[in-house]
Amino acid sequence: MAIRNLRYEGDEILSKRAREIEVIDDKIKELAADMIDTMHKWDGVGLAAPQVGVLKRLIVIDLYEEGTQYTLINPVLVKQKGEQEVEEGCLSFPNKFGKVIRPKEVEVEALDINGKKVKIKAKDLLAQALCHEIDHLNGIVFTCKVEPGTLEVVTPNSNNESKKE
Ligand SMILES: [Zn+2]
Repeated sequence: MAIRNLRYEGDEILSKRAREIEVIDDKIKELAADMIDTMHKWDGVGLAAPQVGVLKRLIVIDLYEEGTQYTLINPVLVKQKGEQEVEEGCLSFPNKFGKVIRPKEVEVEALDINGKKVKIKAKDLLAQALCHEIDHLNGIVFTCKVEPGTLEVVTPNSNNESKKE
């Protein structure tokens, strides 16, 4: 287990499409464990593999409540319903926050770390986090989706309680 270096705004890997994972080998398991450590180190609620420089379809999420930690391989958004306006941030954009419209509810299909098919029905923050991380796998960052006029740039020493994904 190790903390990986994050990729930040301006790094072109953040705008590339990540590739499907065909075999869940030890390297992928190690990557997933490292991503969880890295997300926790920076108090993030989600992290996608391109954010640590790996163009593979792997995301991790943790809402810091019992049973809300997920490691998802090749996640696909299969259903979405409604919308919510949410304040969003991103570990790759540590000083930026803004309002984004996300689906209120989603269904995502993926493989877990053991290669077992899983289906997640999510709403609110979990739906938001899933959409944000799946966007990363398609080279889309939240600043592309921020509602005009809501992007905030904060100075490093000011406190912002928004969740970072
Ligand atoms: Zn992000």
